[in-house]
Amino acid sequence: MGPAGSGKGTVATRILDHFDMRHLSCGDFIRAHIRDNTDMGRQARQFTQKGELVPDDLIAKIMTEEIKKRHNQNWLLDGFPRTEKQAALLDSLDPPDSVIDLDVPFSVIVDRLTKRWIHAPSGRVYNLDFSPPKQPGLDDVTGELLTQREDDKPEVIKQRLQGYHAWESKLADYYRSVI
Ligand code: AMP
Repeated sequence: MGPAGSGKGTVATRILDHFDMRHLSCGDFIRAHIRDNTDMGRQARQFTQKGELVPDDLIAKIMTEEIKKRHNQNWLLDGFPRTEKQAALLDSLDPPDSVIDLDVPFSVIVDRLTKRWIHAPSGRVYNLDFSPPKQPGLDDVTGELLTQREDDKPEVIKQRLQGYHAWESKLADYYRSVI
């Protein structure tokens, strides 16, 4: 758990270097649906574009499918659950053994997100300050153009972080009480 830009993806990658787990990133699944222009992707896009959470029903469909595919495997969820309803869904599917809550000041996050560039087809992430690409604007592996996520624009970031405040303490409290 952690707000947008707290480093969920980066921390997940480091954990995967040491543990045999599958990385299930809810944001990556949503972006794949949007890229493939599926029904669910078309519905989700209007929310991600504005920096709002995608409705629970839609997230439930996406994540139930992904988690059921990996039943009895070790996985590391990234960006899910984000609401109490999603946490209840996860409990009914496969309750987590541990929860990591990333606590990063919002001023640091805003600075980080405006400097984040990605290689969309692979999901590789660069930061202009501390992990810049070897050649400006180009992916290190493929040499293809890097882009900025639609939801990494300053107005949208503000909206995403405000939304996070509204539910984060509730969900963190919930996990403190059950794990
Ligand atoms: P992320 O890559 O985790 O920063 O997620 C990008 C965007 O996808 C978020 O700003 C939300 O719009 C949407 N999203 C990702 N995970 C969830 C979730 N569990 N519930 C609702 N919306 C989500």
